[in-house]
Amino acid sequence: MSNPAFNAEHLLFTPASPDRSAVPTIFAFPNEYTVGITSLGYQVVWATLAMRSDLDVARLFTDVHESLPRSPELVGFSLSWELDYVNILNLLEFLEVPIRGQNRGDNDPLIFGGGPVLSANPEPFADFFDVILVGDGEDLLGNFINAYQQVRTADRFTKLKHLAQVPGIYIPSLYRVEYAGNLIASIQPIDSNIPATITKQTYRGNTLSASTVVTEKAAWENIFMVEVVRSCPEMCRFCLASYLTLPFRVADVEDSLIPAIDRGLTVTNRLGLLGASVTQHPEFPALLEHLNQPKYDDIRLSVSSVRTNTVTVQLAEILAKRDSKSLTIAVESGSERIRKIVNKKLATDEIFQAAANAKAGGLKGLKLYGMAGIPGEENSDIEETVQMLRSVKKATPGLRLTFGCSTFVPKAHTPFQWFGVNKEADKRLKLLQKQLTPNGIEFRPESYNWSVIQAIISRGDRRLSQLLELTRNYGDSIGSFKRAFKELKGQIPELDFYVHQTWDTDRILPWQHLIGPLPKPTLIKHLESATVQFNN
Ligand code: SF4
Repeated sequence: MSNPAFNAEHLLFTPASPDRSAVPTIFAFPNEYTVGITSLGYQVVWATLAMRSDLDVARLFTDVHESLPRSPELVGFSLSWELDYVNILNLLEFLEVPIRGQNRGDNDPLIFGGGPVLSANPEPFADFFDVILVGDGEDLLGNFINAYQQVRTADRFTKLKHLAQVPGIYIPSLYRVEYAGNLIASIQPIDSNIPATITKQTYRGNTLSASTVVTEKAAWENIFMVEVVRSCPEMCRFCLASYLTLPFRVADVEDSLIPAIDRGLTVTNRLGLLGASVTQHPEFPALLEHLNQPKYDDIRLSVSSVRTNTVTVQLAEILAKRDSKSLTIAVESGSERIRKIVNKKLATDEIFQAAANAKAGGLKGLKLYGMAGIPGEENSDIEETVQMLRSVKKATPGLRLTFGCSTFVPKAHTPFQWFGVNKEADKRLKLLQKQLTPNGIEFRPESYNWSVIQAIISRGDRRLSQLLELTRNYGDSIGSFKRAFKELKGQIPELDFYVHQTWDTDRILPWQHLIGPLPKPTLIKHLESATVQFNN
């Protein structure tokens, strides 16, 4: 461990000493160290691997790495941001491993991957990976390594066929996709011994993730993170964080969360409570009360997004006292009609109350988060959002109000996966900018073009691997993607097909063979519950 980045780490687990026959393994994050080490998922998987004496694990980031084995047998990537795929390809080249699985031989390592991007829709990246772990890593990771050990000395094809039998392990090369024009005609395993579908794995324990390393070099300096909840029971119809990870699970406060927090606070005073919607934890008030004790007086506490109607004065006070300056709530839209369409169970009054409570508790700011281009949205809904934000601003003078807004992007395994990106969204973001900024509301839009790129990847199929290889050399702008689509014209469907078109529900989806938490008929029912509201 000679690199200063690694020397600054406080480990909260004990790595095993590798056996003499340990499998030489590299576990990579396809971005810089400071980004990777701030990913709770990366930290936890690395610690899980490093605690096994049958593995000898070295970490690799785009800027630093530990001492790497000359002939790794396993190389893993944790992918949490779509465009980091470029760095995966670069790191494979750095390791002198062929980029495409089909060009790898018996002497090349198996390239495995996991993380939210690959669990949702791995298909655009399928040709670059030998093994994809679909779902929660808690049991899956160990099952993968154990199964690998059983076939470690076999040839590559035998290894892959054996691994394909493990629930949640997806071996893309063992599935053949056939097309009929733009559409997918079938997705079939190459032989009858390979499972026809892969079921996403769900961990059901009540101890969730916690940081395994704390470092000043993390993007959130010295933060100790604990996962308070996993998934979200609200099921907003577009929401991957909810639908992909259902059912909603909570960490046990007494037996798991508090001991984890106390362990973390021995090496830092900065605590982050993580989860799609942490205040959904039924014992969240008790946890807050616990953290309100004098012994925690000097901690700096931050929470990720909270549910609007759980912003109490008490929550705001505790956060303000523990060095949080603002709070984020997702409101999606100022229009009640749109909130009904997306199944957001939130009344406009509750947004006003949350702002009033945030201010009364001593917070300096409130960040509201919303979307443009939600299916069924009209310009009048955007105007309602503007009106609502102006009124909140007026009702809570002195509270800094920020509106973060992205464009709706369809995500696999959600009821809105069939909708395309609304081309009007770009204009609507500009309209919001024009109307909000002069009224003292800070507007933070996410780039419309970035949403288009996300949609290409989130609804992409295997044919896009060619496109991704081309754009890699052109840069990550929308212009690069358009240029690559133009170059591949006639060979793959056009951008419009992936991004903007609304797809029929009876079409075979690129991820049809990957079984998410809810069956397709349920997703269709939820979709219909949204579309019946369109004309209300
Ligand atoms: S409340 Fe937030 S996290 Fe929960 S389903 Fe809705 S958007 Fe997703």
